[in-house]
Amino acid sequence: MNKRIAIIGAGISGLSAAAYAAKDGNIVHVFEKHAQPGGRARQYTTENGYTFDMGPSWYWMPDIIDQFFQDFGYRVADFYELISLDPQFEMVFGDGNLSIPKNYLELKHLFESVEKGAAHNLDKFMQTAKYKYEVGMQDFVNKPCFSWTEFFSFKIAKSAIKLDLLTNFRSYVSKYFTHPKLRALMEFPVIFLGAAPQNIPALYSLMNYGGYALGTWYPMGGFYQLILAMQKVAENQGVQFHFNHSVEKIVTENNIANALVVNGVKMDFDAIIASSDYHHSETLLDGNQKNYTEKYWESRTFAPSCLIYYLGFNKKIPNLLHHTLFFENDLDAHVHSIYEDKNWPEKPLFYACCPSKTDPNVAPQGHENLFLLMPIATGLSDEESIREKYFLEMIKRLEKHTGEKNLLEYLDYKRSYCVKDFINDYNAYKGNAYGLANTLNQTAVLKPSIRNKKIKNLFYTGQLTVPGPGVPPSIISGKIVATEVNKLEMK
Ligand SMILES: Cc1cc2nc3c(=O)[nH]c(=O)nc-3n(C[C@H](O)[C@H](O)[C@H](O)COP(=O)(O)OP(=O)(O)OC[C@H]3O[C@@H](n4cnc5c(N)ncnc54)[C@H](O)[C@@H]3O)c2cc1C
Repeated sequence: MNKRIAIIGAGISGLSAAAYAAKDGNIVHVFEKHAQPGGRARQYTTENGYTFDMGPSWYWMPDIIDQFFQDFGYRVADFYELISLDPQFEMVFGDGNLSIPKNYLELKHLFESVEKGAAHNLDKFMQTAKYKYEVGMQDFVNKPCFSWTEFFSFKIAKSAIKLDLLTNFRSYVSKYFTHPKLRALMEFPVIFLGAAPQNIPALYSLMNYGGYALGTWYPMGGFYQLILAMQKVAENQGVQFHFNHSVEKIVTENNIANALVVNGVKMDFDAIIASSDYHHSETLLDGNQKNYTEKYWESRTFAPSCLIYYLGFNKKIPNLLHHTLFFENDLDAHVHSIYEDKNWPEKPLFYACCPSKTDPNVAPQGHENLFLLMPIATGLSDEESIREKYFLEMIKRLEKHTGEKNLLEYLDYKRSYCVKDFINDYNAYKGNAYGLANTLNQTAVLKPSIRNKKIKNLFYTGQLTVPGPGVPPSIISGKIVATEVNKLEMK
């Protein structure tokens, strides 16, 4: 029997869940508090002609994104043009930089030039990373994770040792590489997973394969092209979107969720998928129906929040690539400020994305579109004066790196975004940007469940549940939850 399914939120996981649930023959309505889809991956255009992607900028694991479109009979190329970046990105250190080429042979040469024997070790590292990527993507990542028994198969048991679940990422990398720059380069991708390299299982070297080997891509027009394409796919399946519709309550009766209150109006449904931040989604329920207590959320390790600046310059900035990581300071000290001190960093690292280096559509001609991002602890107070202090520090380091003096003279657009904005815009617990950290005790079955334990027709999806944070995992999360909702027996 077809179900009437309501989805709360039109972020990546909500769009994915909507498309898959509608493909299964259900009637799907998506309620989104903003005027547009995308959630953390929204985009906006300024009056003076800049177009900013608000969140994701690293298009990695392109095969997972391709798979979404293939599931509906499309190809990525039906919707947007993907450009492979070369170099993929640059890492700036205090004593010289590393520019990461797209070509794997050139990457090996680079490694060898930094450390004798590192090219051979890169081969060995990438061989196992590829294995983890393939096994992880085929056998692990699509599980709903209700119980460990889902992982009890001969094939999985056989591969478990090779997956390095019990080794930490830092010591794993150090077995292959000695030079601090190579170690920093290999450790950097796990920052996406929201925890210190020593607290992340070495399984996640699969990210190095998904990034460095499969390449860093850019959708012309910006990351938002993916969102528009996913919305189109969902609409083609019959999904109905309701923007500027904030869900205020999940209505239940006898442990069945039978309606939503949206903008003050009650609407009936057979099943509900909450893709809004998990903690917030549970505030839409009565207390005794929640899966998790406040104490539970307090005890979780959250991935960072961040300070972001969206900037426009009326001049081209020299010596700057599309992606640049400013790693002149110590990674561990910055990570310590996020997870241990839970305070603003003394000597921060940051990331700069300049999409106008690749895409003429995102800035007026001769101008530059720049996005600066500094990861910080969740829950920090983020008043304007503190944001500005770090802004000036980042600009100073940009000037040093690019050799362009007085950058501020050319600034013609500036907007900051931080903890408070994540809370206001996304109802994000403590202003988290990337959900929960992928530490071992927050992996798979140990993540917040996709199913409400008391209300059998209420489900959760998105970066706070399985498989985890990031664009590809959020797409997969939507697919997993749609499959589970489809199994639900209706009376
Ligand atoms: C700054 C930043 C940079 C990132 N960079 C990358 C990157 O380079 N590569 C990568 O792979 N990943 C990146 N990520 C992570 C990635 O963007 C996220 O993992 C992913 O977008 C999360 O999608 P989601 O659907 O789980 O959540 P969201 O995008 O937050 O979607 C949830 C939606 O629910 C809506 N909502 C909330 N409450 C309600 C309500 N009561 N009623 C109705 N609607 C509601 C929200 O408005 C939102 O649209 C980045 C994230 C951030 C924040």
